[in-house]
Amino acid sequence: MSKIQSVKGMNDLLPGDSATWQYLESKIQRVFESYGYRLIRFPILEKTELFKRSIGEVTDIVEKEMYTFDDLDGTSLTLRPEGTAACVRACEQNGLLYNQTQKLWYFGPMFRHERPQKGRLRQFHQFGVEVFGFNGPDIDVEILAMTARLWRELGVSDCITLELNSIGSLESRANYKAALVEYLSQFKEQLDDDSKRRLTTNPLRILDSKNPETQALLNGAPNLMDYLDDDSKEHFESLCALLDSLGISYKINPRLVRGLDYYNKTVFEWVTDKLGAQGTVCAGGRYDGLTKQLGGRETPAVGFGMGAERLVLLLEELNLVPKGLDQQAEVYLVAAGKVDEFTMKLSEQLRDELPSLKLLNNSGGGSFKSQMKKADKSGANWALIVGENEVANNQVGFKSLRQASEQEFLPVSEVVEKLKSLIKVH
Ligand code: ATP
Ligand code: MG
Repeated sequence: MSKIQSVKGMNDLLPGDSATWQYLESKIQRVFESYGYRLIRFPILEKTELFKRSIGEVTDIVEKEMYTFDDLDGTSLTLRPEGTAACVRACEQNGLLYNQTQKLWYFGPMFRHERPQKGRLRQFHQFGVEVFGFNGPDIDVEILAMTARLWRELGVSDCITLELNSIGSLESRANYKAALVEYLSQFKEQLDDDSKRRLTTNPLRILDSKNPETQALLNGAPNLMDYLDDDSKEHFESLCALLDSLGISYKINPRLVRGLDYYNKTVFEWVTDKLGAQGTVCAGGRYDGLTKQLGGRETPAVGFGMGAERLVLLLEELNLVPKGLDQQAEVYLVAAGKVDEFTMKLSEQLRDELPSLKLLNNSGGGSFKSQMKKADKSGANWALIVGENEVANNQVGFKSLRQASEQEFLPVSEVVEKLKSLIKVH
């Protein structure tokens, strides 16, 4: 019979790679928590309507990237393609936005039916941050400073740059849209097919077009910045001034519009040139209208999503994954002969007294030689060796796996102290 394979674009995380992910996850958690952000989790399945109403009907995600199916009762459900809409839903439903502000973060899988390639998967993972209840540019700056700090912590600051724009209020954007459509309509025949279609459905996305001819036409197009309402303009100016005062550099990109409908005012992307076309590692912005659009009370909000796979790729590309993270064990317990009762008791006792020790028991028997080979492969620095003689003398053999030295024999009562002296364990 043929073997069943995973779904295309949905990867397994294998034990050899999981330490890198845990490293990234713990760094990120520490940085987010150092700003007082709290973890929220919400389901990976939501009603389809939630994403249609928030991300927007005429966006790549809703038009062609969602995993949507009917539940047994006929309700249309969708595997979440992103976190923001679900986070707003969870906060509203649980009363977290009622007379309170929130600074939240989350992590988990997202699903989009895209063409799989390096840094682009169908099941991928995002770290997300969402902040509710604050109007001022200071909070936009806080989440950018938090991200900049994370880049420093990971050692990637030098190859990630911040691109920034303001897309203003709904009204100012509508005025700009009209001007853009009027301008581009003169060149309709020269536009690429996608942009031609977007001229009537979602003209702002044309600014995002990767087509060089379309980009050339855009050089003469009206500028979004010139259409900003006073409030958005002031917000953006204060934002830039605060970033300057913190020494966070950025590039204003007047064509940055983002692919989701719910944004207003600030939008941003952190981009690297080390990952080819999949260079955006973190993207977000303000979405002051979304809560109301989803039936709640108007609540100012800002947030971002960060692609975990792309960050892992970047760390690997730059050789920034600390060595030895994947060490399976510090100490390997070799059990030669009928000594199970002794070794099981000994290893449980060691774990009682040294809870942070990584101690790997040899399971499944095997000759002394084959066990020593496994001990070496485990990455452990030390082997504890127990044979029938040791049991008879209530002793344990001690051998370095990394330095040439004789085996020592210690009474069981001294093993804990010996391990403490060799390995930094408590
Ligand atoms: P892109 O332009 O690369 O398609 P996007 O604008 O669709 O990205 P967002 O919806 O803003 O991306 O998601 C935030 C982040 O999540 C992205 O910057 C990226 O790091 C990551 N991301 C998005 N889609 C994928 C995917 N299919 N595979 C891996 N990571 C992804
Ligand atoms: Mg995309």
